[in-house]
Amino acid sequence: MEQVPDALFEAGRVARRLKEEAYRLARPGASIYELAERIESIILDNHARPAFPCNVGINQVAAHYTPTPGDVTRIPPKSVVKVDIGVEINGFIADTAVTVADTPEGEAMRLAAEEALKTAIKLVRDGARVSDIGSTIQSVVNRRGFKTIRNLTGHEISRYNLHAGQSIPNVQTTDSGRLRKGHTYAIEPFVTLPEGAGEVVESGEATIFRFEPRPRLEKGLKGDEVSLLRYIADEFRSLPYSTRWLLRLGREKLELHEKLVRNGRIHAYPVLVERHGTPVAQAEHTVLVKEDGAEVLT
Ligand code: MN
Ligand code: MN
Repeated sequence: MEQVPDALFEAGRVARRLKEEAYRLARPGASIYELAERIESIILDNHARPAFPCNVGINQVAAHYTPTPGDVTRIPPKSVVKVDIGVEINGFIADTAVTVADTPEGEAMRLAAEEALKTAIKLVRDGARVSDIGSTIQSVVNRRGFKTIRNLTGHEISRYNLHAGQSIPNVQTTDSGRLRKGHTYAIEPFVTLPEGAGEVVESGEATIFRFEPRPRLEKGLKGDEVSLLRYIADEFRSLPYSTRWLLRLGREKLELHEKLVRNGRIHAYPVLVERHGTPVAQAEHTVLVKEDGAEVLT
């Protein structure tokens, strides 16, 4: 069997420690800007890089929100907060998330997501059907009186590729995919209240971006726009980034960046929110598939 590189295990260990740090810090009153910056700076201190900007999702915000430059948001009381962390070492990625809930109902949602994840991991082995994992996650969550989000899924992870190939559903599906030995997957149940839609939609906002190389990308751009685009390509390659990471170039570059996004030169990930506005909890581990089980990396 192909050797699993140490970098993958090390990325997992860093991610696991950060999850504990996030669980401690993501409390009512905390600045989400400081939280994200703290998590990302610990990643760098560990000779690793963020695989994506630290996501902080409050209540109905399920995914793809990272604090923006100048973001003054503090975690409100009675909230459900998700902190989603990606650690990359030499292209090997660990992806994990934690929920902090400040209400009994939110805490029950968090526990439902954690139990669903734990139960799903017990099914992991070479050849396991992803549809069995999806229906198990859904039934555990339903049994606890909650609902899963059907259009957010776990995913296979390969080198330098956070979303590679196979998805891992959070509901019953007809997906005939199977897990494969030696491959790495993130499993991530998302849970909301029974009155929720069980579905996320795009909000009008985007806070996470990605450079996608393509022919003639620089055509028609001005000199300063081309240099910003090249800086982004060199610095972040094809990994998602935050505009907070552009602040070192000076605030005036943010406007230029916005223009590149508007003109379709940069890919923007829309913030994803529960369609009915209900709070969302999440649990996530990255696992390595073995012949007879899973090795949890995070
Ligand atoms: Mn994640
Ligand atoms: Mn993930």
